Amino acid sequence: MCVGAAQLFVVGHDAGHRSFSKNKLVEDIVGTLMFMPLIYPFEPWRIKHNHHHAHTNKCALACQWPSSCSMVNGGLSGCRS
Ligand SMILES: [Zn+2]
Repeated sequence: MCVGAAQLFVVGHDAGHRSFSKNKLVEDIVGTLMFMPLIYPFEPWRIKHNHHHAHTNKCALACQWPSSCSMVNGGLSGCRS
């Protein structure tokens, strides 16, 4: 079951990066269909995930692993080295 979920996610991930088709509507339909069995909304994930990729290693903006980020004054300041 986990392998099937991972396969759905990989196709949905490609659709989220607009690398599955040249047609955005097809990307949205495929992404939504792939994420539906995962019980996860495609469009909010796509927006957040692309923000994450645009700000890789900028923990204060897109921290995916909070334990790897340093805290300053109660807020995230950056990645630990
Ligand atoms: Zn990605």
